[in-house]
Formats: sequence, C-alpha cells, structure tokens
Amino acid sequence: MLTPRPGILDVAPYVGGESLAPGANRVIRLASNENPLGASANAVAAYEALRGELHRYPDGGAKALRAAIGEVEGIDPEGIVCGAGSDELIALLVKAYAGTGDEVLYSAHGFLMYAIAARTVGATPVTAPEANLTADVDALLVRASPRTKLVFLANPNNPTGSYISDAEVRRLRAGLADETLLVIDAAYAEYVEETDYTDGAALVGECDNVVMTRTFSKIHGLAALRLGWAYCPPAVVDVLNRVRGPFNVSQAAQSAGIAAVRDLEHCARSRRHNKQATARFAAAATAAGLTVFPSVGNFVLVRFPGGASAAEAALATLRRQGILLRGMAAYGLPDCLRITIGSDEDMRDTMQALQDFLQ
Ligand SMILES: *Cc1c(COP(=O)(O)O)cnc(C)c1O
Repeated sequence: MLTPRPGILDVAPYVGGESLAPGANRVIRLASNENPLGASANAVAAYEALRGELHRYPDGGAKALRAAIGEVEGIDPEGIVCGAGSDELIALLVKAYAGTGDEVLYSAHGFLMYAIAARTVGATPVTAPEANLTADVDALLVRASPRTKLVFLANPNNPTGSYISDAEVRRLRAGLADETLLVIDAAYAEYVEETDYTDGAALVGECDNVVMTRTFSKIHGLAALRLGWAYCPPAVVDVLNRVRGPFNVSQAAQSAGIAAVRDLEHCARSRRHNKQATARFAAAATAAGLTVFPSVGNFVLVRFPGGASAAEAALATLRRQGILLRGMAAYGLPDCLRITIGSDEDMRDTMQALQDFLQ
C-alpha cells in the first residue's frame, strides 16, 4: 500500500475563501482579503505585454524583480528570495529547517498555513494563547523549547487584524534561542500606518536568524499570479535557493510584480480607501450590535452576540444573497466572521444585509 510520510495525512487541507455564489446575480467577494481596487494598471499592462513570450522560461533568479523590490523598500536585493506566493516561502522555510520531532510555534489565532506546513514535514505545530486576540510574546516564549525550530509571527495577524510593536517583536527575538528561526509574516505591512509598527526588515539586517515574508496578493492585487518574497540573512538565502524550484516564479508574476511594487500611487490609493472604508464599516457594524475588533489590515473580524450559531447563520444568509464572508471556526473563533474591506458599494450592501439579518 502506498503510504505518505508521517504527518501528511494529519494535514487538514487549506480551504480558501469562497468565490462562487450559485444563483446570486451579483457576487460580493469579501472572503479572501483581495484588493477591491484591483491591480495597478501598470502591472496589468506588463502582464499583457508578455503575450508573445509564453514559450520562454522565466528568469530563475528573478533579478529585475528583486532589484525593484530592493529599490522601493531600501533593502539589499541579495537578501531577497521570491516565491509563488508567500505561502510557498512559508512551506520552504519549514521544509528546510524542521522535520519529524521538531516543533513549529505560532500564536493561537495565527494564519493556518503555519500548521499545514509543519504537519507536511512531520513537525508538530504548537500554539501559544493570545491576549485580547493579539500575539502574546511572553506566552510564545514560555512554549519555545529546544525542539522549536521556527516561530511564525503574522504581523499584522490574519484573521484578527491585530499587531505587535517593533519593541515587542524585538523582545520576542531576544527571548528565543539563537537556533530558532523567527519568521515575521508581514503580508499586510503596506496597510499599517501606526508609528510603533515596523515590517521587520531592519531586524533581518541585524540578526542571522530572522526572516520577513511579504506578498503581492494583498495591497498589490496580484493574488492570481502567485507572488511573494522573503527578506533573509545570507545563509537563509542560500538554503531557500537550494530547496525552491529553479523556475518557481512565472515571468508574468515577475513582470507584473516589478510594475506593481513601483506603483506607489496605487498603493497609497488602496491604503486610503481601506482606511476610510474600514472606519465607516466598523462604526456601522458596531452600531448594529456586532463587536468589531480593531484591525490594521484590509479586513475586520466581527463577533456576533448570538454566538457561533448566529455567525454561521449570518454566513449562510449572506451567501444566499451573493455576499461571501469568511467563517472562522477553523481559526478557533466560531462566533466570528472575517470581512474583507471591499469597495464602498460592496460594504454598503454588506452592511445592509447584516442589519437585515440582525433585526
Ligand atoms: C494572505 C496571506 C499570506 C499570503 O499569501 P500568498 O498569496 O501566498 O502570498 C501570507 N500570510 C498571511 C497572514 C496572509 O493573510
């Protein structure tokens, strides 16, 4: 009998946000934290310009893309490794640094991919409780052990929308063993304007055991193309370049990514829309009786006073109207739903549907 390696059959496959609402004549997709403004027009043009080049292999080293990211972010392109979404980089880091008997640590309501990546290599996912739906550095440090090969910190975190300050991230790093790799998953960094927040790039430059991952799927609106990057110390760059596929990032992703990262205006517009629409939606949802947790990302977590059954009923009721939100049972928050901040029109219609449901 064919038998996969230990742990593989313990993996609960990742279930993405719903994208189809059969029967609804208009679909409002607020389940996957996509940018309602779409991609930069420059990125779309770069993608379209490749139509005659589809028979060519991509640049396996993503040199031009890394140079563009380095220029915009003010970091060394040699420290950057690109991947097919940051999901691929998360999986490769776990594959390279953890195995059977090892532990991968993250906080209780952290991103589900960390547990999936850990189980895939036979490692054990370990969670630390949170305080106020926010990563708790002390709780993480208590659970770190010599078996802990990686600690994942989504900062800001999905699905809670919370973040911890640069000082807290540094306290986490200082409390971990040198042999433990700290991975700061900053998928929503571009949305955060709080002054005590940093994406972690500076810490990568100061340590040989910190990696920061970023994505083009969120503010850059390129989720379909699968593009992410990791900023790493030299030894980790070397390791990732050994374990990744030689052509793991398509040329379409590279070309669109270069245009997207350079389009600061599109990012600013996206950030502005997100901030205004989040404030408006949070106020209306609070007035309607929902608990809205503060979020620095492009989504909000809302808690239903009626508990898990109410959250489930709201999810199903809105789905029938073509409004797709994200259920949170898999994240241990069954009385909550996560709602991506969409266009003004989408948020207005979603709020109306929630008000109707709550009455
Ligand atoms: C969306 C998301 C990612 C990344 O996604 P990719 O599309 O694979 O780049 C990574 N981490 C968190 C916390 C996310 O929410």
